[in-house]
Amino acid sequence: MSTDEEKQNYYIKLMNTKEHVRELIYSTLDFDELMNRIIVAGSKAISCETASISLKQQEQWVIKYTYGFKEDLEGNYMKEDEDPHAVLAINTRKPVIINDAYNDERVNLEHMKKLGIRSVIVVPLVTREQAIGVIFFNYYEIVHDYDRFTLDFIKDLASSISMALQNVKLYEEACAEILARKAVEESLIQANNKLNLTLKSAGVGMWELDLKTNKQVWSSNVYESFGLDPYKPIPEGVGIETVYPDDREMIQLSLLETYKNKNEFWNNKFRIISPKLGLRWVAGTWKILYDEEGNPKKIIGANVDITYIQLQQEQLLKAEKEKNENLKKVISMKDEFLSLISHEFKTPITVINSAIQTMELICKDELSPKAIGYLNAIQLNSQRQLKLVNNILDITRINSNRFEINIENVDIVSLTNSVTESIRIFAEQKDINISFCSTIKEKFIGIDSEKYERILLNLLSNAVKYTTEGKSISVKLSQKKVEGNSKVCIQVIDKGIGIPPDKLEKIFERFGKVDNSLSRQAEGSGIGLYLVKLLIELMEGDIEIESREGKGSKFTIFLPVKKAAKISQLQVDKSLMNNKLKQSVSIEFSDVY
Ligand code: ADP
Repeated sequence: MSTDEEKQNYYIKLMNTKEHVRELIYSTLDFDELMNRIIVAGSKAISCETASISLKQQEQWVIKYTYGFKEDLEGNYMKEDEDPHAVLAINTRKPVIINDAYNDERVNLEHMKKLGIRSVIVVPLVTREQAIGVIFFNYYEIVHDYDRFTLDFIKDLASSISMALQNVKLYEEACAEILARKAVEESLIQANNKLNLTLKSAGVGMWELDLKTNKQVWSSNVYESFGLDPYKPIPEGVGIETVYPDDREMIQLSLLETYKNKNEFWNNKFRIISPKLGLRWVAGTWKILYDEEGNPKKIIGANVDITYIQLQQEQLLKAEKEKNENLKKVISMKDEFLSLISHEFKTPITVINSAIQTMELICKDELSPKAIGYLNAIQLNSQRQLKLVNNILDITRINSNRFEINIENVDIVSLTNSVTESIRIFAEQKDINISFCSTIKEKFIGIDSEKYERILLNLLSNAVKYTTEGKSISVKLSQKKVEGNSKVCIQVIDKGIGIPPDKLEKIFERFGKVDNSLSRQAEGSGIGLYLVKLLIELMEGDIEIESREGKGSKFTIFLPVKKAAKISQLQVDKSLMNNKLKQSVSIEFSDVY
């Protein structure tokens, strides 16, 4: 620059350009356009031949804007080995001035020659202490000295570009954040829609109560169940008041329980009154959430509408109840019928029995042995009938609570001994040895002696029935403590055919018979033991069985050591009992042979 006037004009030009660039920065948002205009204005102001701006993009330096180059360089990568002076500017974050490329080691001369550049100023573009780009101003001739104004202008230009770049970066970041937020919002809305759909199809309503603000949050189907608009706030007072009055106390109590038992989920079934749907059954689950200090913060819960299931269950229950009542009626009708028929049977059988006994007494000597044989057969069969009829009558009476029991204080030892002795003759007929032993001499307890006789005779007749010839039967009596209570324990032990394990439970059932060839050999209806158990239970006793197939059986009766309220004691009158017992024995043993 030769004259002062030229210099002055040059400085004015620089100042105007500076002002122009500042205006550009504030007036346009199109960054590319801004950069192109800055590089042109800057280059023209300092009269350089070519210029370029490279920006850092993912660890690469890309030539983004150019001025004056013949070839199109935009989009090319700036190579470190071709532009070492630029790398220096980036690393030091300071401008690098090359007055004469031919005499400066900081450049790649070959590359400079290729571009025809002799002199260059490279200024780093720095934001937040980071170099994010570089700007090159190139001359074809040697520039001996860059005056202070030119250098300040270039630095100023570089900082304007950096500022614009930072603005753009911030703007892009803000846009990206807004987009990301929008995407999150969108996915939240979608997730919420999906959740609502799932909850709706599963019939689950979710709710949340903030215990500090008392504010509630509901899923859309809770609004629906109350006939409310999900886009309007939940009206005041919607809470426990919606629960059916009879169930409120229970809900409040279980909420208190929930408070007491931290970290527990609570379940309850209750009713709510929905303005839209009326009375609904709900299965609710809830849990209390606590803040960091351990104070209750929120209650979260889920409700499932179970009205449909509840109604179905109620209907099923009703139907079941009706069915049971009908069944009870049918059973009682059947029992009445059985009892009636049994009575009708009993009278003629008793008459037949008495007639035979009378014939035996009066016309004993007039009858031929053949006729006596026939009479015995008639008597045996009528006694079998009588046993069956008596058993059926007793069972129907017990089952319909019409059975009378006469508890008196009886010496169980002598009664058991008498009954055992009374069947000796029957046992001996089968060559079976029968024995009785007791660990106590005498024991008066409150029992119905007649029923006890039947029980024991029943067990003894079974023992004889299911024991083969030559074997033995023993009756044992003792007093024992069972679970702290004193009991009289009577055991009927035989060495007979025994009972298979799988049938043991069945034998005390009505018509519970063991169906094997051996037991089939004996006559029986399968109701004897059922009646035995009922009679023992009436006397507050119990019966147990132990048995091994082929080895024998052991029936154990436990009777409580308890005196009857009656003061009188029934003495076992042997002569009287003998006749009565004889009759009972012959009836009970009628099906043994
Ligand atoms: P049943 O009139 O048929 O004897 P019970 O009710 O008295 O009827 O007995 C039920 C079944 O238990 C019998 O059919 C028999 O199979 C079995 N049972 C009862 N006592 C004995 C026993 N001492 N030994 C073997 N089996 C027995």
